[in-house]
Amino acid sequence: MRFLTITCPFCWQSFEIDSPSFDEQPIELITDCEVCCRPMTVRITWRSPAEEPEIEVEAES
Ligand SMILES: [Zn+2]
Repeated sequence: MRFLTITCPFCWQSFEIDSPSFDEQPIELITDCEVCCRPMTVRITWRSPAEEPEIEVEAES
């Protein structure tokens, strides 16, 4: 299992989530911060499976 590190847009702490797979793209998921428990939308984009993905995090209102 791979993990991705995400930075929370509310408290700026980093935490890890289970990584979706390359084949699941387009990937958009909602997760709660492990530190402050606030929800955020996470978009994950790979250009190739061997590379680290681009991770975009947006605060959920
Ligand atoms: Zn947080």
